[in-house]
Amino acid sequence: MGHSIPPLNDKSLLKSQAFVNGKWVGAKSGKTFEVTDPATMKPIGTMPDFDKEDTELAIKAAEEAFVSFRKTTARERAKMLRKWYQLMMDNADDLAKLITWENGKPLADAKGEVAYAANFFEWFSEEAPRAYGDTISATVAGNRVFTIKEPVGVCGLITPWNFPAAMITRKIGPALAAGCTVVAKSPGETPFTAAALAELSVRAGIPPGVVNVVTALKNTAEVGETLTTSETIRKVSFTGSTGVGKLLMKQSASTLKKLSFELGGNAPFIVFDDADLETAVNGAIACKFRSSGQTCVCANRIYVQSGIYDKFADAVAEKVKGFKVGGGYDEGVTHGPLIHDRAVSKVQQHVDDAVKQGGKVLVGGKAMPDQGENFFQPTVIRDMSPKMKLHSEETFGPVAGLFKFDTEAEVVKLANAAEVGLAGYFYSNDVQRVYRIAEALEVGMVGVNTGLISDPAAPFGGVKQSGFGREGSKYGIEEYMITKMVTLGGM
Ligand code: NAD
Repeated sequence: MGHSIPPLNDKSLLKSQAFVNGKWVGAKSGKTFEVTDPATMKPIGTMPDFDKEDTELAIKAAEEAFVSFRKTTARERAKMLRKWYQLMMDNADDLAKLITWENGKPLADAKGEVAYAANFFEWFSEEAPRAYGDTISATVAGNRVFTIKEPVGVCGLITPWNFPAAMITRKIGPALAAGCTVVAKSPGETPFTAAALAELSVRAGIPPGVVNVVTALKNTAEVGETLTTSETIRKVSFTGSTGVGKLLMKQSASTLKKLSFELGGNAPFIVFDDADLETAVNGAIACKFRSSGQTCVCANRIYVQSGIYDKFADAVAEKVKGFKVGGGYDEGVTHGPLIHDRAVSKVQQHVDDAVKQGGKVLVGGKAMPDQGENFFQPTVIRDMSPKMKLHSEETFGPVAGLFKFDTEAEVVKLANAAEVGLAGYFYSNDVQRVYRIAEALEVGMVGVNTGLISDPAAPFGGVKQSGFGREGSKYGIEEYMITKMVTLGGM
């Protein structure tokens, strides 16, 4: 192992193998891939590069475990999830260190992620016993109709690196609550956090084969194809880019799987003249620059009404000047690196394109090679126009592009002029406008006078090419269940 992680309190949370049928295993081929710390670009360890055969073994393990796991009572499953939640909280410091190590986000943010991630286990431990069917008045005399909720079966889960813990618990929590077993493909960039969660699942008493974590980097597409074309896997839940989502959907067509897709966003963030300026500025900062702009619900297009545009632009720029960019473990660091150099190039392209077309950089605008290959200056650009790349594409980086608008009708049209529709935000103190705009935005989630909307109790998901299905909330567990109808005749 290369570059060292600050010592873990519990060293046994650091694994370098995949987790199948309750055992730590390598790839049959012996192949591994290297994981690097995005802040230093130093190798931090290796993980097995699974292929089709390895993945099929994991699917088989989940299939066998499903036979008995589906028969456990909801109360028993709730207790396991609750214990897993508690173990995450008890080991929060170590989990946060792992997240910072492989993802780069500042340690305080990583700690916040651990609590958020664990909350999905707590929430779904509470939902498990409350998922039951209906008794229905039949229209046919002499019949009685009722429904039962059953687990959908073995699930394939694929998650991204930007929330190494939360994206996984948001899927495994409801899957287990419903009585499903899972094969989770951990992100190639951040497999260590996933492995630590698997280790805690053992301590939580989750039976072997119920949770399997497979790892891959070079063989990612092969593992994805194995999961999506398997006859055994009945459901695939994917969080990631729209492009990969489309591919997985095509692959899943051969076996017509139940699907949930949480895909890319390009969130509009609208500030009306009647908004409270300071609240809106703070909201924009949190919403845009959290995880250095690498969340799917980050503000991408910031529209500010002409009456407060200048004041807003100056205030945001002033705040951004106060950021401290650096390695996630360093004291006082508020913003970390991007995940890899491809991300830095994309951000630079969006900035250069904006500048070429008349955008004025107020802060930042450049990569930070002195800091490290993956760092980009937190950037604010004013005088943006809708022809720019940043308007039509998700930047996924620390660039706040500020667009000026005059009327409500104009900004709604601009906000909805996107192929995707995940989150949208606006700031206003006019109660009628709050309803009007919340209803008018073509997105799955709306933040009004807040830039932070994620909550395990609230349904998370998108419309248009941001995907379908909801995670978290009472709707989250439905994605992992089937509603079976029973008609009893001859009464
Ligand atoms: P990505 O689609 O490249 O990767 C996501 C995951 O899919 C990774 O684990 C990756 O290994 C895997 N993957 C890639 N190709 C695959 C294939 N052919 N078969 C199977 N798995 C495959 O996305 P990314 O660039 O790593 O993540 C950023 C994207 O994810 C952004 O577009 C962001 O908006 C989106 N995202 C969405 C949400 C949401 O909830 N809607 C949350 C986080 C991130």
